[in-house]
Amino acid sequence: MRKHLVLVGAGHAHMTVLKNLADFTAAGHRVTVIGPGPLHYYSGMGPGMLSGIYRPEEIRFNVKDMAISRGAAFIEDLVVRVDPAGKELLLQQGQRVAYDVVSFNAGSGVPIDDRISAHEAVVPVKPIEELLGGRKRVIDALKQRKLSIVVAGGGPAGLEIAANLRRLVADATGAAEITLIAGDRLLAGFNPVVRRKALRGLARLGIALIEGQKVASADARCIRTTSGDRRPCDFLFMAVGVKPSPVFRDSGLPTGVDGGLLVNDFLQSVAFPEIFGGGDCICFAPRPLAKVGVYAVRQNPVLLQNLRSALCGGDLVAFTPQKRYLLAFNMGDGTAIVSWKRLVFDGRPGFALKDYLDRRFMKMFQG
Ligand SMILES: Cc1cc2nc3c(=O)[nH]c(=O)nc-3n(C[C@H](O)[C@H](O)[C@H](O)COP(=O)(O)OP(=O)(O)OC[C@H]3O[C@@H](n4cnc5c(N)ncnc54)[C@H](O)[C@@H]3O)c2cc1C
Repeated sequence: MRKHLVLVGAGHAHMTVLKNLADFTAAGHRVTVIGPGPLHYYSGMGPGMLSGIYRPEEIRFNVKDMAISRGAAFIEDLVVRVDPAGKELLLQQGQRVAYDVVSFNAGSGVPIDDRISAHEAVVPVKPIEELLGGRKRVIDALKQRKLSIVVAGGGPAGLEIAANLRRLVADATGAAEITLIAGDRLLAGFNPVVRRKALRGLARLGIALIEGQKVASADARCIRTTSGDRRPCDFLFMAVGVKPSPVFRDSGLPTGVDGGLLVNDFLQSVAFPEIFGGGDCICFAPRPLAKVGVYAVRQNPVLLQNLRSALCGGDLVAFTPQKRYLLAFNMGDGTAIVSWKRLVFDGRPGFALKDYLDRRFMKMFQG
């Protein structure tokens, strides 16, 4: 029987499904992809796009073209509600889309609360396209004056963003004080050797690090930390962790503690077998997963197989998250810190490896 498969969001976890859409359409099924725009940016190269190491065209996929060239429809819009009983999606512009099987890869964003949004130049580090706008605004402002730039967040994203801002400022022949406000501790919970290399890297790049404080509030051109310190801030980059798309909680679907779609081993909603999901927007019921692209990428073949089975019949396969994965932090100066199991190294070989892996991923899903 001809069925309708809908993909919500064309992010990192849907790439293999997108590439193989012709399998579904050739089997007689109808496929619709819904996303806010024709392009999807690869997060692993986002900080490098901020600094100018990569051009925007080098780090994005034309997901609209990928869908249409394989016989699917593409709707440029956002899903704002799911009616799981009626098997229908409500889009922001009012359209309703019925589905037989739906898969969500709607990602995550950085929550910016009211105490922070008073700042006139807040740049959330996700969605990645925000970094493109941020880059342009920083370059323009550097032509006028010396800047104070604050990066909030002591995880890998905060580190990479701060380091790549240094490169951006240098290449624009401007001047800026860059401060990384890391919360409790930079790279808390990471291998201590990685942390040491990161501290050395920040010192080398002339980036001030503040630990034990968070950005608590902001007004137009200043921030205040949790210790009450007030400091000037022309740009505030927010890398304080991400939250899944709110669409599941808003729709009353079962969600995990973070609001992500609660899924079982098969990446299938625990309540509605025709609803699947992958990437940052899910909460994996068997065990919580870090919000890293590595998992989204590894979920690709599982989603492909399970969507095929849901449409055509067949067994579902389980997703087994790997316990360890390679970490590579781009320090913006042609070096990267790489950590794999007990091995940690940095410098130019680290960047060469990260660049190779990132470009290989991009190549896999072009066209
Ligand atoms: C600066 C930075 C650097 C990072 N570097 C790395 C790295 O090197 N390695 C790594 O493993 N992880 C990295 N991460 C983490 C990584 O970004 C995420 O884990 C990854 O983006 C998750 O992919 P995703 O496809 O689930 O979500 P996303 O990349 O957010 O994609 C979701 C897609 O869904 C669309 N969408 C959103 N809402 C809706 C809606 N309501 N309806 C329809 N479509 C919607 C979005 O437009 C987007 O195209 C980094 C994160 C940041 C912030």
